[in-house]
Amino acid sequence: MRQEIIAALEKIVGHENCRVEETVRRQHGFGEALPDAVLFPEDSQQVAAVVKLAAAEGLPVIPWGAGTMAPWGLLPFNGGLAINLTLMNKILEYDYENMTADVEAGLSLKDLRQALRVHNLYWPVEPVEPDNCTVGGCVATSASGPSKLGYGDTKFHILGLEVVLPTGEIIRTGGKTVKNVQDYDNTRFLAGSWGSLGIITKIILKLRPIPEKEATFFLACKDLETAIAAARTIRNETLAIALEFLDGVAMQVLDRAGYHSGGQGPGVLALFNGFTEQVEAQLAYLKEKYKDARILEGDEAAVAWQARRQLWPQFAGEKGAILASAAVPFTALAEFLTKARAELDQNRKGAALVAHFGNSHVHILLDQAPKDLDGVRELVDRLASLAESLGGYLVLDNTGDLSYTRRRVAARGRVIFELLQRVKAAFDPRGIMTPNSKVLAYVSTDTRAVS
Ligand SMILES: Cc1cc2nc3c(=O)[nH]c(=O)nc-3n(C[C@H](O)[C@H](O)[C@H](O)COP(=O)(O)OP(=O)(O)OC[C@H]3O[C@@H](n4cnc5c(N)ncnc54)[C@H](O)[C@@H]3O)c2cc1C
Repeated sequence: MRQEIIAALEKIVGHENCRVEETVRRQHGFGEALPDAVLFPEDSQQVAAVVKLAAAEGLPVIPWGAGTMAPWGLLPFNGGLAINLTLMNKILEYDYENMTADVEAGLSLKDLRQALRVHNLYWPVEPVEPDNCTVGGCVATSASGPSKLGYGDTKFHILGLEVVLPTGEIIRTGGKTVKNVQDYDNTRFLAGSWGSLGIITKIILKLRPIPEKEATFFLACKDLETAIAAARTIRNETLAIALEFLDGVAMQVLDRAGYHSGGQGPGVLALFNGFTEQVEAQLAYLKEKYKDARILEGDEAAVAWQARRQLWPQFAGEKGAILASAAVPFTALAEFLTKARAELDQNRKGAALVAHFGNSHVHILLDQAPKDLDGVRELVDRLASLAESLGGYLVLDNTGDLSYTRRRVAARGRVIFELLQRVKAAFDPRGIMTPNSKVLAYVSTDTRAVS
């Protein structure tokens, strides 16, 4: 990158917040694909000025939260600027009477949770890494973890945004009132746009009271069939806010990750919250049906859910592992899980199946490093065909291979594909924002795979 551009960037964010050392660039890259500079702006005006400069120079711009997942979503980019928002981490207003908070995008979920507790409120967004990741990163991806069953995605818990567009202009959407849409629903359109349409700088959060009671139901099962049947019962007959299914291999990983269930087969983990009577009535109902189930509270429950969060890093280890995501209609979930496990037993015994069962979303954890995808290509093809034959789909999350995502998009037809490209071009005429984002495979022109 030209020296005069670096000088101009330093003028905007200050010398100490414009980093070009390789170590910092590596923390914001993917393999050998690194940005030319990493910027740490302190306010929206600085973000806007940086983006304006990037637009004038045609430089790629990659928004960056805590980076918990960013490297998964981005293909190699040709240098450009990573904009790390973590210095923009203030709570600008905590209006507990209206149950809203106005926050900067780089605030961590952990700090947010701590601050909200003072008035017994919380923001019910709990992605896979709920401590480190930023509010802006959650909004940009409309993240959701297991509690999507009860609360839906992040986009249901926001009221308004401030966004720096790829032109450097600043827009505000929504506001403090719950009803706040006069034209398109811009807040929810931009949430989940994966940084491809602009940089989210501020968010108005919609808060809820902390539930009176929380408890976890855990059932170790003898076989897949019993576990699937129990999970179906919980999904159809209770108001669980999270419902996780783990096959036998996943249960062994859970054990290594810190929760010692004692079971050898598959398991079901479900979270309940609300008023005490409401939670206890549901648990009593389930306990009557599943006499061996455990009810976990306090530290014991925290250990189980922490182990569930650690399941992926524990499984992937140092060398990494391929993560595939499949979704099928709920009525086909039992068939998908059974046939997928049979396929894995035949060809890949060490692979695990973990499902956000209530949402019919299955993660397939393959014990193969992402760079060695070809070694399991045929297996992944068969699993993708299985999902498609049941009315669903499969994508790969972390290999850089876009073929399954493109297949999925192609299935929607050419018209939507072209429309999405026009939407992207209208927001971002120079195509500078996350130009090679994997999650936007349909607008991405880069067909390279990451190795
Ligand atoms: C491939 C992939 C798979 C995922 N799978 C899951 C999953 O299974 N379950 C789940 O709960 N969550 C999942 N997520 C979402 C994940 O939880 C979020 O990415 C995370 O919560 C965001 O936190 P972060 O601050 O670390 O963001 P980062 O990891 O830093 O960024 C995530 C993405 O958001 C963009 N971004 C970050 N901040 C902003 C901003 N202020 N404005 C605009 N764009 C921004 C980045 O460019 C990047 O594309 C996935 C994300 C990716 C990329």
